Amino acid sequence: MKPGQILPVTETVSLVAGMNQGAFPRCHAVLIQDRETALIDPGCGKEVLEPLAGRVDLVINTHTHPDHTSGNYLFRESEVLVPAQARDSAGDIQALSRRFARPGRLAGLWRNFARQLIGFHEYRATGFLQPDQEIQVGRTRLRVMHLPGHTVDHCCLYLPGPDLLISADVDLTSFGPWYGHTESDLGLFRASLARLAGLKPKAVLSAHREPLFQGFPEALRAFAAVWDRRSDLILGLIKKEQTLAQLVDQAPIYRRFPYAEPLMRFWEGRMIEEHLKELVKRGLARPTERGFAAA
Ligand SMILES: [Zn+2]
Repeated sequence: MKPGQILPVTETVSLVAGMNQGAFPRCHAVLIQDRETALIDPGCGKEVLEPLAGRVDLVINTHTHPDHTSGNYLFRESEVLVPAQARDSAGDIQALSRRFARPGRLAGLWRNFARQLIGFHEYRATGFLQPDQEIQVGRTRLRVMHLPGHTVDHCCLYLPGPDLLISADVDLTSFGPWYGHTESDLGLFRASLARLAGLKPKAVLSAHREPLFQGFPEALRAFAAVWDRRSDLILGLIKKEQTLAQLVDQAPIYRRFPYAEPLMRFWEGRMIEEHLKELVKRGLARPTERGFAAA
């Protein structure tokens, strides 16, 4: 998909292709053109979004990650709805940096990273999305599915009319799930995927890959299988006792740290910790004086 391409999916729903193939630090957005116009997750890049400025009644964010919200500021005249769990942090770079990086030096690095690499600008939310709330955009209905784990505020949106799922950062990419913040929770993320496994939508619009018109159950299983591969990899590494810092050096999840290395190392460590927590619970690993070892 070319950046800025508007790909019709149903009569009223289209995908707006992001820069960089929709890969981080960008995403694909969703445009609903009914009697009202709504734009979901304007993180496609300024060049793509500018032509839409002034034509959107309602901006909706699936969560507060800046790669999904970096263009909110271009829609100052629009309503901006964000998940209720982000009531105290949405749009506020100081508050977001405390959520997404360790307060202190890392939070400062995160603010630079969000502004410079992602192009984040502050914005003001005008309303809050509650779990299971239905939003009406003209005649198009959207149901809020609060599916935490990635972040505490992560939501998917389900459109019962066309049977379409906006899956946000249940992004079904080959990289797999991401859960690198202090607030991220692998157990909750697994439960969120289990809830989605009950759906068989006709179309799935992911924030970071091309739309899916078939094979959602398989794509969801493949996405979840990445967790098992990561757990196996970490279990292999701790056959010999390892500290968390040693595990981070081996980068079993990211493999390498191509940008913002201190932040990527922090997120890598958090994701490893989530796996270790699970492995300990399953009796496969044990904490040691210095770190962890296989049980
Ligand atoms: Zn995200």
